[in-house]
Amino acid sequence: MLFPLGSGITTKVLPPTKVPVKLLLDNHGRVIDYLRLSITDRCNLRCRYCRPEKGVPFIPQNEILSFEELERLVTIFCQLGIKKVRVTGGEPFSRRGCLPFLQRLKKIEGLQDLHITTNGVKTAKYLDALAELGLAGINLSLDTLDPKRFWRITRRDYLESVVDSLHGTLEHGIPLKINSVVLDDTSDDEIVQLVELARKYSVTLRFIEKMPFSGISRSKKHLCSSLSIRLKNILPTLEELSPNFPTTARTFSVKGFNGKLGIIEGYSRLFCNTCNKVRITATGLLKTCLYDNGVLDLKKMLREGTDDQEISRAIKNCIQTRFINGHETERFTSKQDVEPSMASIGG
Ligand code: SAM
Repeated sequence: MLFPLGSGITTKVLPPTKVPVKLLLDNHGRVIDYLRLSITDRCNLRCRYCRPEKGVPFIPQNEILSFEELERLVTIFCQLGIKKVRVTGGEPFSRRGCLPFLQRLKKIEGLQDLHITTNGVKTAKYLDALAELGLAGINLSLDTLDPKRFWRITRRDYLESVVDSLHGTLEHGIPLKINSVVLDDTSDDEIVQLVELARKYSVTLRFIEKMPFSGISRSKKHLCSSLSIRLKNILPTLEELSPNFPTTARTFSVKGFNGKLGIIEGYSRLFCNTCNKVRITATGLLKTCLYDNGVLDLKKMLREGTDDQEISRAIKNCIQTRFINGHETERFTSKQDVEPSMASIGG
């Protein structure tokens, strides 16, 4: 199309150039565009479903990926088609240098959304910087609002700091999701108290099935009651939403609520058919399913001087050999007597 300008010069308006969209597809045709990064196994809480109080030594620092190694991996993954990265742990803010690391990650080409998952103990003081950074969202873990129960679950007394981080995140306008693991002894009262948060505030509160990642001996039976039935009993007006993007959570709206509710059926594994994520553990293992033992030793490759192209190829190979769902992965994966701890996997 030609447009005459006042000067008599004409200019040609070109149709927008199509930038090729990189898609990383697995062997089942699922788009993989989400990477979860555990940057440390250290944590200032000792949640009893995640790790034992004592007896699990911290991983020595030199076995944890350095920030430079992590940045290099994220760059490679983004070149492959990853668009969303979640930094998690352990507790991400327990690792010195977490904030500058997030600031560097944000600049990586191709990375569209940077998120963190945090327990909120130390998060409040970073909120100004996180808002300025344009963080796409915070997932805050909070299993109860009852101080005694908080102590019993986390073995620490930090409920107030977590609640401060919750309100601070809302005040800073950072999108907030609250993750609550439902335990065998979680009462309806506790659930109702948490649900109040979603009624009052614009948050998504997700109840999570407890999964077998406690860092303690495998119990004979992993008990897990249906969260959807329980929630529907408490809130009969729940309405399930059908999102048009892959998600691990079933989301519900409730009349009169500012926020939403969700459930993550990580033990039942009903969402695997839309799984779009892979993980890197604190020690640099690539996991293409939460239930595998790690399918590629990225740290070894990095430290042996493997070049980016070779690492890229190895990652693609792993993504081409994923199991269809977490039940299949579990069936074909050897199990230790002790469950792995979510603290090093990253949740
Ligand atoms: N420290 C951060 C936090 O607390 O959010 C990030 C790491 S934590 C391992 C990530 C998430 O995993 C938390 O929401 C935690 O509740 C969840 N988690 C840990 N162990 C779990 C288990 N056995 N079953 C279900 N969720 C678990």
